[in-house]
Amino acid sequence: MQKEKREIIYSIVIIIAIPLLVVANTLFISRAVRSAYNSELRRKANSVNAIMAESLREQIVAEDTESLNEKLTALTKERNELASVYIAKKTSDGLAVIARSPDAPTKLSTSGQFQANLAYDKQQPIAKFANVTKNGQLGQAWVVNTPLIDPDTKKTIAVVSSSVLTTDSEEVINKVFMTSLFMLLVTVVIIVALLLRHMRLLGYAQLLAKQREVNQTMSDFLSVATHELKAPMSIIKGYISNVIEDTQPPLNNDAKEQLGVALAQTDRLNGLVQDLLNVSRVEQGRVTYEIQRVVLSEVLVPIVKNYTMIAAEKNITIQYTPDPGIAVIADQGRVQEIFTNLVDNAVKYSQAGSITITVRAEMSRVIISVHDTGIGMTSEQRSRLFQRFYRVKTEETKDISGTGLGLWIIKKYAEAMGGTITVDSIVGSGSEFCVTLPKSAN
Ligand code: ADP
Repeated sequence: MQKEKREIIYSIVIIIAIPLLVVANTLFISRAVRSAYNSELRRKANSVNAIMAESLREQIVAEDTESLNEKLTALTKERNELASVYIAKKTSDGLAVIARSPDAPTKLSTSGQFQANLAYDKQQPIAKFANVTKNGQLGQAWVVNTPLIDPDTKKTIAVVSSSVLTTDSEEVINKVFMTSLFMLLVTVVIIVALLLRHMRLLGYAQLLAKQREVNQTMSDFLSVATHELKAPMSIIKGYISNVIEDTQPPLNNDAKEQLGVALAQTDRLNGLVQDLLNVSRVEQGRVTYEIQRVVLSEVLVPIVKNYTMIAAEKNITIQYTPDPGIAVIADQGRVQEIFTNLVDNAVKYSQAGSITITVRAEMSRVIISVHDTGIGMTSEQRSRLFQRFYRVKTEETKDISGTGLGLWIIKKYAEAMGGTITVDSIVGSGSEFCVTLPKSAN
């Protein structure tokens, strides 16, 4: 619950923080663009003023108002961004307009006077931002006052004032804003989509954690239950054996047969408990491997010996030619379990025929094959063979008891020792299980 709360807070912070960062970035960029554009505009206006003043110097000095008016009018018509231009000269009443374009004021306003005077006295260009009109339309402009200085006397002759409209720069800034707004929207959509995905993944992760917990509990239960079952079962088995063998006077055949069945079922139960115990050990990583040199014939000969009698009862022969020169690097006990299981299955799932064990050494591995002429299986059954609890269900197997755990367990053993187990089989012809294990060098 605490974790979920934290996740929600985290999501909300992201949803708010990222768009805020994008907005801040947009504002910063547009401000920088506006400032760069404005200073460029002022610089341009000033140099236009300076060039204009120089080229009109004679007319300004002579106060040729008519010709100046004509030129200034032509200039504002030619250049769209130029709202108005005027030239002011000092009179006894202060600065007065001597020539102007149509939209320029005839008389300077107080603030216009102030700016122009400043440029006049300081002999420096002075700019201010103001609302202006051009052709009857209102706009915003930089009004730049540039002094015209006499090169000989170094005195100011006049002030040229231009109003340069900022329409172009506003357009650029607006474009930047709109693009940023669009990017902001896209960002928010992406963030929301990512968060939704994140939430879903979080849900899966929690589910997985819960499943792991349940698996662990089941595994622990299996481990304890099977362990606890083992002791009473050995006691039951011991007592039944004692009754069969030591009862005086000896039991009649009927009673012996019935107790024999009880003993066989106890053995079966014992096998099941042992399989479950092994599964829980594999799952909990509690299987220990004492890796050493294992001479295969030393493991295989006793197994073959154990199963020869049982196999003979079903008219099955077991063929194996021991080669004491071939050894693997593995755990002897696990190797024994692997081949006991494979030979046991070969006998169990054959009605008659033969079982052949062959051992072949390669460069770095040894391949041991257990081949039988038993019932075999289809490719679909074969593909599921090493799954836990999988048993082939056919007419032929329905009376054969088992857990479907043996192959799963021994595959885990083989893999843990750096080996593999594979199977090849044809229905009705038999099966071949191939085990590979790392070869011992000597
Ligand atoms: P169990 O024999 O206890 O059922 P295993 O894991 O050893 O469990 O085997 C799984 C299944 O694979 C068996 O139920 C059987 O259907 C099939 N199987 C195993 N070995 C053979 C074999 N040699 N021939 C045919 N089927 C086999």
